[in-house]
Amino acid sequence: MQTYEFDTIVLGGGPGGFSAGIYAARGAVSTAIIDISMLGGQPSNYLELENYPGFSQVGGYELMEKFEEHADKFGVNKFPMQEIQSVDLVSNPKVIITNEGEFRAKTVIIATGAKPMRLGVPGEEEFIGRGVSFCAVCDGAFYKDKVVAVVGGGNSAVEEAMYLTKFASKVYLIHRRNELRADKIVQERAFKNDKIEFVWDTIVREIKGEELVNSLIVENVKSGEVSKLEVNGIFPYIGILPNVDNFAGQLTQDQRGFIVTDETMKTSLDGVYAVGDVRVTPLRQVITAAADGAVGAVYAVKYVEALKEVTV
Ligand code: NAP
Repeated sequence: MQTYEFDTIVLGGGPGGFSAGIYAARGAVSTAIIDISMLGGQPSNYLELENYPGFSQVGGYELMEKFEEHADKFGVNKFPMQEIQSVDLVSNPKVIITNEGEFRAKTVIIATGAKPMRLGVPGEEEFIGRGVSFCAVCDGAFYKDKVVAVVGGGNSAVEEAMYLTKFASKVYLIHRRNELRADKIVQERAFKNDKIEFVWDTIVREIKGEELVNSLIVENVKSGEVSKLEVNGIFPYIGILPNVDNFAGQLTQDQRGFIVTDETMKTSLDGVYAVGDVRVTPLRQVITAAADGAVGAVYAVKYVEALKEVTV
C-alpha cells in the first residue's frame, strides 16, 4: 500500500475544502485534498448562485471549477474518488486509509459538508431513482410535463421548486407550516410562479407507486385530514445532516452530529479543524464555507509551524 505524507490534509473538496487548501498551500505547508467523489462539493449541483460576492450570477459548477483552478495554481495535491476505510484523528500523525493508500498528516481540516435529510417515510428509500430524488438539477429534466412535489420550506426547497417549473407542468410545494423559512426575495419569486401550488401545514406520510412513484399520502397537521396527491416525483429538501461517518465520536459534536469548533475552526482535538457545513455554524453558504476554510487553514499552518519548531 502506498504511503503519502503531508503537513495538512483537507477532507472534502467543496468550497470550504478548496479555500482551506489554497490558504494552507500559500502558507507553504504541503497540502492535499481527499474526497470520496469528484471535487466541487454540493455547489457543483446548484444551477446558479446569486449571492457569492463578485459574481451576481454564476453557475455552481463553474464557480467550483474556478476554486479548483485556484487550488491547482498553488500546487494543492488532489485525491478525488477515494473510498475511505478509516480515519484516525487522535493519533500523531493523523492517519487516513483509503483504497489508494495510507495518508499521514500533521493536521487535518475536515470539510466534508453535509447530506440531505431523509423524510423517513415508507416508500422513500424504495423509490430512490424511480421518483424520489434529492437533486433537482440532476434529475429535473426527467420530469418534463409531469407533476412533482417538493417538500420543505427553506431556501433549498423553494429554489429547487422554482427550478423544477422549467420542466414540470406543476410543482406542489409541501410545507409543514403555513410560512416559509426561505429568504424573502426567494419567497416572493416563488409566490409569483404560477406553476407552484403551495400545500401548507402538511406532511408526507407515505410515497406510493408501482414501477415508479405515482402518488403521495399527505396529512394536514391542523385538520388531521389525510389525502392522496397524484405526483410523478418527489424531491425532499428538508435540511441537511453532517458527513461525519468515518470519524464520528472522535471529536465533540452537537446532537445532530455537527462538529463543534472554536472561532479558529479548531475542534476538540489538537491539530484537527472543521470548516463549512459540517461544523456547528449559524449560516451555511458557499461564502461562509470559504471563509471558514481560510480561518481553519491559517491556524492549521500555525499548528504545523509550532510542531516544526519543537522538533528542530
Ligand atoms: P433549512 O433551511 O434547514 O430548511 C429545512 C426546511 O425543511 C424547513 O422549512 C423545515 O421546516 C423543513 N423540515 C425539516 N424537517 C422536516 C421534516 N421532517 N418534515 C417536513 N419538513 C421538514 O434547509 P435547506 O433549505 O436545505 O438549507 C440549508 C442551508 O443552506 C440553509 O442555511 C440555507 O439558507 C442554505 N441554502 C442557501 C441557499 C442560497 O442562499 N442560495 C440555497 C440553498 C440552501 P420548518 O421551517 O418548519 O423548520
